[in-house]
Amino acid sequence: MDQYNITLNPKDMPDAWYNINADMPEPMAPPLHPGTMKPVGPDDLSAIFPMGLIQQEMSADPMISIPGEVMDKYRLWRSTPLRRAYRLEKALNTPAKIYYKNESVCPGGSHKINTAIAQAYYNKAEGTTEITTETGAGQWGSALSIACSMLGMKCTVYMVRVSYDHKPYRRVLMQTYGGNVIPSPSPTTNSGRAFLAADPDTTGSLGMAISEAVEVAATSGGKIKYSLGSVLNHVLLHQTIIGLEAKKQMESVGAYPDVVIACCGGGSNFGGIAFPFAHDKLRKGKKIDFIAVEPAACPSLTRGIYAYDFGDTGKLTPLLMQYTLGHDFVPSGIHAGGLRYHGVASQLALLVKKGVMRAVAYKQNPVFEAAVMFAKAEGIIPAPETSHAIRAAIDEAIKCRESGEAKTILFNLSGHGHFDMMAYDAYNSGQLVDLELDEKALEAAEAAIPKVTAPA
Ligand SMILES: *Cc1c(COP(=O)(O)O)cnc(C)c1O
Repeated sequence: MDQYNITLNPKDMPDAWYNINADMPEPMAPPLHPGTMKPVGPDDLSAIFPMGLIQQEMSADPMISIPGEVMDKYRLWRSTPLRRAYRLEKALNTPAKIYYKNESVCPGGSHKINTAIAQAYYNKAEGTTEITTETGAGQWGSALSIACSMLGMKCTVYMVRVSYDHKPYRRVLMQTYGGNVIPSPSPTTNSGRAFLAADPDTTGSLGMAISEAVEVAATSGGKIKYSLGSVLNHVLLHQTIIGLEAKKQMESVGAYPDVVIACCGGGSNFGGIAFPFAHDKLRKGKKIDFIAVEPAACPSLTRGIYAYDFGDTGKLTPLLMQYTLGHDFVPSGIHAGGLRYHGVASQLALLVKKGVMRAVAYKQNPVFEAAVMFAKAEGIIPAPETSHAIRAAIDEAIKCRESGEAKTILFNLSGHGHFDMMAYDAYNSGQLVDLELDEKALEAAEAAIPKVTAPA
């Protein structure tokens, strides 16, 4: 009998995260202090992050155990189901076997709470009473709002203006979970006021919202800390729970992936599903094709420059080695708000640079075509971000149909699209525009990337 849902026995739940720093093909270039351009130390970061997370950021331990209180919260929604997409396979008439890990069942509707709960826990343990953050599409702000409520802390969310205006239900969701939501750029911070002075009609960007949230934490005198929903090592570390579970679930049915796919904004759900399998490629020589999927309107991995750059527009964050479109880059207002980020996680950037992983980019219409096909076959309406991964998985399956290969494809269903009906409406009525990367804006933004080389 066909087994659609592959569950994990609660006693087999992974109880440690996987740290890919232990298996990197070469040492990572260290983050640099934005003022001195020297490598940052734990003390530099302690103004905005708790020590528990700073230690994880720099750790080289291969496995890091998950605290009991975090495990308790994880058990509310984990393990998530792994599903064999038999109906999608039939619709595509492909010999490929397609599996997906369903993170859309997490509270808030996406994988983001896997790290939100861990970050809130380590903050609380060190006396933080409030956390500030930014949100693009709203998923991260939702996840952190829930996590802070669960642990009895305050949460302030700077929400990118264009999303604030176009996604009122996301705002209400965050407020219902107890979050304090401010549209960004805002007049409540120095950086926000500067962005508004430069362009009063700006749609905002993740880069600007990060500047605001970091500023509030850095100038608070210690009780308020900042939290980031992607990009950093500790965030990708927490998300490896996805891939660790998927590995056990696939093993339980005698399956192993030839191809692992996820969409990529900052790289956290991609790292989450891919890194535990990448261990097998880096350490055991397994042949696996890892594909990170990004929007053609914001193609950091496929068209960005490998360089040190700031994480934010206001140049407050440390410089990270990454693929970047420039910290000034404001991507066009595509519906996959969670993928509108100028850079990408350093760990993922290095693995792409070294050829261990690769990236592809798609325009909006083919992405939504894949989303609708998936929704009809599997019954889940995916987030616009997630739909990028689905497009790539479908294309890999079509290649198998043409070549006759029966590859095993695993992708991450990072979230559902129940708050994205405006985007689906635009697609269904033929109004969705295939936004191109603005070459002029890109050149200008790239010119602003600082000329810094890695310390010897
Ligand atoms: C935030 C988000 C993403 C993009 O972020 P990553 O850090 O690259 O994973 C993708 N999918 C969903 C559903 C999201 O909420």
